[in-house]
Amino acid sequence: MVQTTMSDPLIMQLVLSAVEEDHKFPSGLMYQIWKRLLEKFEPGDLFAEQTLEARLQAITLDKDEDPGNLKLKIENAMRICNCKVFDTRKAALIQKAASPHYPETIANLLTRMDPGKSPTVGELLRDLKLTWQVRMQQKESLDEESPTETALASANGGVECDYCGEPGHKKYECPIYKRA
Ligand SMILES: [Zn+2]
Repeated sequence: MVQTTMSDPLIMQLVLSAVEEDHKFPSGLMYQIWKRLLEKFEPGDLFAEQTLEARLQAITLDKDEDPGNLKLKIENAMRICNCKVFDTRKAALIQKAASPHYPETIANLLTRMDPGKSPTVGELLRDLKLTWQVRMQQKESLDEESPTETALASANGGVECDYCGEPGHKKYECPIYKRA
C-alpha cells in the first residue's frame, strides 16, 4: 500500500492531509487513511481522473486571449472533476498551452531560471501577461486612425525587439527586459 501511495501524488496528498488532521498520531491513522481511500477512490473516480486529464490536455490559448485565462481554465477543470492539480503540473500545462504564441517569452524566462529549476505559475503568468499587454497596446496603436498615431506606428513599424520578439519597440525599451 505504501508503494501505491508514493507513486500517486493525489493519494499522497490524501495521506498527508489525514496525517495533518490526526491529532492522536499514529493511533487510528491507518484506519483514517483506509477510510479516506475508500471514500475517495470508488470506481467512479477512475473515470473522473480520465476526464480531468482529457480536459487538461484540451486547454489552449487563443492568440489575443489573456494568458491569465489559462489558470482559470485549469481551475475550472479541477472544479468540474473535483480533483487537485499540483502547482508544478499547472505550470507545465500553462507553459505548453502558451508556447505556440509566446516562444520568446518562455525561452527568456527559462534562460533566467537557475539550472534544473522550472518556472512557477506566478512567474509564467507574470511574463506572459507583460508580453500580452505589449501586444495589445501595439495592436491598439495600429488600429488608431489619427495621423500622428499612424505616423508613429509606421515609424516604429520596422522595429522588432531583440529580447521578446515583439514589434514596435527596441530591447532597451522592452518592458519585459527592464523588469527581468
Ligand atoms: Zn521587448
